[in-house]
Amino acid sequence: MNPDNSLLGIRGFLIDAPEFGRLRSWSDGALIIDGAHIVEVGDYASLARKPREQPVRWRHSPRSAVFPGLIDLHAHIPQYPAVGRGGGELLPWLRQHVFPLEREFTGPKGRREAGAFFSELARHGTTTAMLYTAIYEDSCEAAFHAAAASGLRVIMGQMMTDVGSYGQLQPTKIASILNHESERLCRAWHGAADGLIEYAFSPRFAVACSERLLRAVAKLAAESGAYIQTHLAENLEEIEKVRNQFPAARDYTDVYEMCGLLTARTVLGHCLHLSEREIGALAAAGAGVAHCPTANLFLRSGLFPLEKMRAAGLRIGLGSGVGTGPELNLWQVMRSAIETQKARSFYEADALVPTPGAALHMATQGAAETLGKGAVIGSFEVGKEADLTIMDYAALLPYRQSAKPVNDLSGEDLTSLCIHRGGPHAVVETFVRGRSIFRAPEPELF
Ligand SMILES: [Zn+2]
Repeated sequence: MNPDNSLLGIRGFLIDAPEFGRLRSWSDGALIIDGAHIVEVGDYASLARKPREQPVRWRHSPRSAVFPGLIDLHAHIPQYPAVGRGGGELLPWLRQHVFPLEREFTGPKGRREAGAFFSELARHGTTTAMLYTAIYEDSCEAAFHAAAASGLRVIMGQMMTDVGSYGQLQPTKIASILNHESERLCRAWHGAADGLIEYAFSPRFAVACSERLLRAVAKLAAESGAYIQTHLAENLEEIEKVRNQFPAARDYTDVYEMCGLLTARTVLGHCLHLSEREIGALAAAGAGVAHCPTANLFLRSGLFPLEKMRAAGLRIGLGSGVGTGPELNLWQVMRSAIETQKARSFYEADALVPTPGAALHMATQGAAETLGKGAVIGSFEVGKEADLTIMDYAALLPYRQSAKPVNDLSGEDLTSLCIHRGGPHAVVETFVRGRSIFRAPEPELF
């Protein structure tokens, strides 16, 4: 609540994507926010004239572009320092670049890095993130403290892996210890910070987990109501290993299915190489998918079959895939989602090339629905919580074009501009639940 009982008015070029492919915009629009919630949406001229009992503190200008806060469904905090390194495929890349970093993500160094990550998200206009930490309880705990202090909406969990952990033959931790620690972290943090913080049980992937661990995760998640996140069918060598490790399973998805991990609160990263049966099993369980196109191109893992996944009715959102994905910038992830399908369209007649509105949907409302939060965040509806990212779009135009009127841009043009040139250099302010969690210094005009 605002101490003076005033309302917050955000003025700008409002754009959201309430449905896949449907863009909605108000070229000189406004949001009226009362505490945490959006209470009015519309044209600035009519909202500014409207008589109200409470005063409105107006912020920003028609020169800002206002989008729903961006939602990142997949990133690993300990891997962030390794982004952009190496050019191999998944399993060698993990051994060479990631495991050494994750092994060190404990003690003072791990705790310091865990704390620094969240301001990076807010600076990129990300308001909700689903994250993995490492296998250590101390750095995971530190990450939760930092997440709560940041004001972001965060779903996160301790990495769980008990087979060949971190490239070594002997596991660093056995399943029972991991289960105990994750259960304790979940009890301490699931629903913390007035519900902004939630827990996700986070087994790395079937290759690195015993059946015992996976079954325990299903039980812990069911008991607590927490999320589950893991990886599925990212890379062909990974799939082959799963086939050898779990000979009784029909396929990779069946490993998770038989252990009880496929639920409506499960988000599966990547999902590139799935059979019709597997896609059907995900859909039947209501599981969500984190599509990570920059990550999939970086490690040459594969090209996401968007039209097949959508046709099955799966809920799909985008993930930066950091550290496999080289950056937290979800505008670049949207661009990559479009370009991935453009590339497929040369040989796949049914490829579904997302419009800018469809890409924005996957980074906002679609991702919110993937998390089961479609009625709470993701678009500009009255009654939703006010998670927003505000961009200075003059910063994205060639020569900034700051002196020129920009009202010749349509909502589609402006979204496309953000997708192809957007990033933290243009983010002016980020809000979660009506509260500013990042504000850039005033932009220089020339
Ligand atoms: Zn990942």
